[in-house]
Amino acid sequence: MSDTKKLPELFGSLVFNEETMKERLSSASYSAWKKSVTDGTSLDISTANEIAEAMKQWAVEKGATHYTHWFQPMTGFTAEKHDSFISPAGGGKIIMEFSGKELVRGEPDASSFPSGGLRATFEARGYTAWDPTSFAFIKEDSLCIPTVFCSYSGHALDKKTPLLRSMDEVSRQAVRILRLFGDQETKRVIAQVGPEQEYFLIDKTLYNRRKDLRTCGRTLFGAKPPRGQELDDHYYGAIKPRVAAYMKDLDETLWALGVLSKTKHNEVAPSQHEMAPIYTDANTACDHNQLVMEMMKKVADRHDLVCLLHEKPFAGVNGSGKHDNWSLGTDTGRNLFKPGSTPSQNAQFLLFLAAFIKGVDEYQDFLRATVAFPGNDHRLGAQEAPPAVISIFLGDEMSAVVDSIIQGTEYKEAGKRTLEIGVDVLPSIRQDNTDRNRTSPMAFTGNKFEFRMLGSSQSVSGPNIALNTIMAEELKQFADELEKSKDFQSDLQKLIRRVFTEHQRIIFNGNGYDDAWIAEAARRGLSNLASTADALSVYTAKKNVDLFVRHGIYTKEEVNARAEIHMENYVTVISIEAKTMADMIRHDILPAVSGYADTLCQRAYHKDALGVSCKYENSTAKELGKLTDALFSACDRLERDMEKLPADTKKAMTYCRDVVIPDMSKARELSDQLEGITAADCWPFPVYSELLFST
Ligand code: ADP
Ligand code: MG
Repeated sequence: MSDTKKLPELFGSLVFNEETMKERLSSASYSAWKKSVTDGTSLDISTANEIAEAMKQWAVEKGATHYTHWFQPMTGFTAEKHDSFISPAGGGKIIMEFSGKELVRGEPDASSFPSGGLRATFEARGYTAWDPTSFAFIKEDSLCIPTVFCSYSGHALDKKTPLLRSMDEVSRQAVRILRLFGDQETKRVIAQVGPEQEYFLIDKTLYNRRKDLRTCGRTLFGAKPPRGQELDDHYYGAIKPRVAAYMKDLDETLWALGVLSKTKHNEVAPSQHEMAPIYTDANTACDHNQLVMEMMKKVADRHDLVCLLHEKPFAGVNGSGKHDNWSLGTDTGRNLFKPGSTPSQNAQFLLFLAAFIKGVDEYQDFLRATVAFPGNDHRLGAQEAPPAVISIFLGDEMSAVVDSIIQGTEYKEAGKRTLEIGVDVLPSIRQDNTDRNRTSPMAFTGNKFEFRMLGSSQSVSGPNIALNTIMAEELKQFADELEKSKDFQSDLQKLIRRVFTEHQRIIFNGNGYDDAWIAEAARRGLSNLASTADALSVYTAKKNVDLFVRHGIYTKEEVNARAEIHMENYVTVISIEAKTMADMIRHDILPAVSGYADTLCQRAYHKDALGVSCKYENSTAKELGKLTDALFSACDRLERDMEKLPADTKKAMTYCRDVVIPDMSKARELSDQLEGITAADCWPFPVYSELLFST
């Protein structure tokens, strides 16, 4: 797309969106689809047939030859299996066919997806079912139909089903609250999400020379380069031509798919960048974020680049995260986290705020667990990312409001009197700029919360399922209490004050990177789950399981399955990293440093024969010898410890944390020292200063 005037035509050109449906469906079928989206009614087969036919015609006109149900198994990736539209028509000819049945239901042989024990092998097949709330689209000549993925016994085997359930539940409870405030109009409350996505770009040739990048998505070795991000010159810096070309291609690819790609810029680390879309409903946002991650990689390939979505591709510079901007909006277009301009709107806002604060305080451990992945362990708690302790940043002004409510004291901006909820107008709250320090894991940014602990490579479903469900729980409790109230204003006041008082410990506006905060958080009794191994242990705590079961988001089996898959994934990832590390040490690093030491010895031998001083050769060769032996032992130890990896997943997880990861750190330390004294042309793979400045 060279002519920017064409953007409106390009946007969504590969999406079978509402406008296209209106154009191509009979008004009866269009209305039936619309009703199924708004009321959750199911479509009859003749309507499904008509929609399928229209979709097929549209897709074929756009060059599609196949269709696939596109779903999100519990791995956090997307899955697809393509079938062509062809059907034999006799006389050696074919016709293109696609039926309503094929649209609404599929049966992928999905026995190899992790199910956490949910799907007994005798009923290995799961089924996929069309999600009419997310538009179908064309990707690489296939019509992709967003679907949920379930087992025959009805268990959710994916990340979309529970997300849709949680969106329904938070809507139901939020509407109850709105009714108490006299809103009879709102039918649905929508969880809205805008995920900002960070990534690295590096040159493909260099990438291909690093086994660790290819196998693990991150470097397992690498001495700190003389220049990293110390100059602070990359963040928001001018975008280099090669990267700019990539970003342009990425934007156009995403726009065609209907993704509202809005912002692009350089991030803090060299070669690190960010893309942010405009927020949309949580379901679409999750689908789109999956597409964004896929396209970031595919577009990079076209530019001889590689996009790294790993949370920590390089030690010593910032890692990549994903900021999950989350809010609730009504179907009439009101944002429920926007401080209002009338007393009643403010009371309602404060009630939603109270629900959020209470929910995050009560379920801080589970929220932490939703971002617990091995890659994220390198980030959380490190200097560039939020700490592993969850707290809420409200900003000074909003905190002053909350404090004045707790204390029943004057809020100075409010004309020197006690702020009476439902009677007074909130002082106008300026968007607080202090959140720019980015040290808070959960920041209120004016009209939404920004959950900043997510890893760059993870699906955003898990954290949003948790946010929606937690919010639903608190709103339900509030609605149960207030619906019975005889004096709404006064009981509302009391409730908000009580909740702020009981849960104020979760509010923290200071510097989250400060060690003093970790100590203070401990005094406040906040949980500090430092690693994935710690965090995943609380995933299935009774209170957490009860929450999801109570709201019909997960069955007990479904939560357990997810915990199991997370734990298995952790152990698998660490095992692959450990094995890759040992492989690189034995096959690349040891032979290279041994060869280099020998070269130095031979040089010293020859120089010495002629009486030339060889201090450099002698001392370096000795140092190399010492470190090489140490690395050899460290590698041996890592391999031996890996053989003792317990079979039980839970035990294996703590074993990885306590034994394997320390072994790996030791080996890396030795290798990085060796890199520092080895001649550049003898080191077996590209080093940090090349990788980080390759675009
Ligand atoms: P920044 O965090 O850099 O200040 P913005 O606040 O403009 O940037 O937006 C960051 C992300 O938050 C974007 O994806 C944006 O669409 C999204 N966002 C803005 N408002 C909301 C909202 N009410 N609910 C959810 N996401 C939102
Ligand atoms: Mg932001």
